[in-house]
Amino acid sequence: MLKLYNSATREREDFIPHDPKMVTMYTCGPTVYHYAHIGNLRSYIMEDLLDRYLRYLGYPLKRVMNITDVGHLSSDADTGEDKMLKGAKREHKTVMEIARFYTDAFFEDCRKLNIRRPDVVEPATHCIGEFIKVIKKLLELGYAYQAGGNIYFDTSKPEKYYIFNDYNEEDLAVGVREGVEEDSNKRNKTDFVLWFTKSKFEDQELKWNSPWGVGYPGWHIECSCISMKHLGEYLDIHCGGIDNAFPHHTNEIAQSEAYLGHKWCGHWMHVHHLNTNSGKMSKSSGEFLTVSLLESKGYNPLVYRFFCLNSHYRKSLMFSYENLDNAAAAYEKLVSKICSLMGEQQGTVEEEKLEKMKDTFKEALDNDLNSSLAITALYDALKSDATAATKLAAVKDFDRVLMLGLLDAAAKKYGEQKQNDIPEELRVEILSAIDRRAQAKKERNFALADKIRDELKEKGVELIDTREGTDFRLTK
Ligand code: AMP
Ligand code: ZN
Repeated sequence: MLKLYNSATREREDFIPHDPKMVTMYTCGPTVYHYAHIGNLRSYIMEDLLDRYLRYLGYPLKRVMNITDVGHLSSDADTGEDKMLKGAKREHKTVMEIARFYTDAFFEDCRKLNIRRPDVVEPATHCIGEFIKVIKKLLELGYAYQAGGNIYFDTSKPEKYYIFNDYNEEDLAVGVREGVEEDSNKRNKTDFVLWFTKSKFEDQELKWNSPWGVGYPGWHIECSCISMKHLGEYLDIHCGGIDNAFPHHTNEIAQSEAYLGHKWCGHWMHVHHLNTNSGKMSKSSGEFLTVSLLESKGYNPLVYRFFCLNSHYRKSLMFSYENLDNAAAAYEKLVSKICSLMGEQQGTVEEEKLEKMKDTFKEALDNDLNSSLAITALYDALKSDATAATKLAAVKDFDRVLMLGLLDAAAKKYGEQKQNDIPEELRVEILSAIDRRAQAKKERNFALADKIRDELKEKGVELIDTREGTDFRLTK
């Protein structure tokens, strides 16, 4: 039975979906005014682990993510400029150009990290009608009020506003006030804006008509509405980084439950932060580390995934190049071990042993996604006395969840090693045949080119045409 820590109850709970026929999961997506840093991506990697594991367990899963392309202001207390506008000004582009560019960049990073694209990805700017509908009802129900042109949510109305207070309520309230000009429209200091018409920044680029005047939505209402639009009234799991617990998720719960009139989300998963020596990694301050930067320094992005999976999602993780180098060395060793299995006598898959290996792996992940223990289960499987075929079957199975590209990396390494083992004479013969084939193709003598290829194939040499030229691989 999968047990997950629920930040709303502060307990490890059995995961029981509202409707086992369709598990629903919502993830706060990126604010697309800049590249995602590797801290953001830690959150998405660990959420991806949950996504993959639920599917591995056989749950039908629908996962939704928003793209925040409007309304996320520089301060969580509804003040400051819209982050998107800030990005647009920085790069002398329109907000929509910025959104498109950084949304694509985000998914490119995800692709490199083997983070699955959620089933539905919805930009906030596509759902203005939805936001207006929900805000209207909140006003009718008396949970929202209009003041100074904006629509606010009244946080004194829900029976219990603070949900995730591992913290002291007073500290949270101070956090809201800190460094922020008091908004005299607010009835309570934690009230938040659902719809802005009066902003301190008159040049907000994206604005829409609403019953309350031309304006734009607040950030929190986006996630509630996008989730309800695609996943209905009952949500099984809501994910995000720990900084989102307050005020973002707290406000999401307040407004969603006020709107629905019942409990909304069963389970809250918060990923703790990636830190550097100088503190929490953030887009607006400190060192800005991206996947591309790591690649430019020669790191395989999957090494970063491996680095993240080696620690628990509810512990903060310290990034340093030294730590990443250690992960790179361990990853390389793991790949080499799997590669050496490929050269061994394979034997047959021993089903009973494989099932035991899988049980150990599941036991680790069932325990609040203990990914480092799951990796230990992989090492143990590789160390066991099982046949190479059994071990390789275990790697294949576990990597459906870990997604570290282990078999591909090992097969590549194995291919390279085999190539290095080719006797010099044979190598010269193959390279000369490749030249003759290229010449034949140039002269449009395709029959000859095919003949050369087929002759090599019979000798156990397969030609692989790539953009850079023709490569080869031994098949015997
Ligand atoms: P944002 O693009 O700023 O809206 O953030 C995207 C996601 O990254 C959110 O779930 C944040 O909570 C999360 N996040 C932000 N900073 C970090 C960090 N240093 N470590 C881990 N997750 C983070
Ligand atoms: Zn959100």
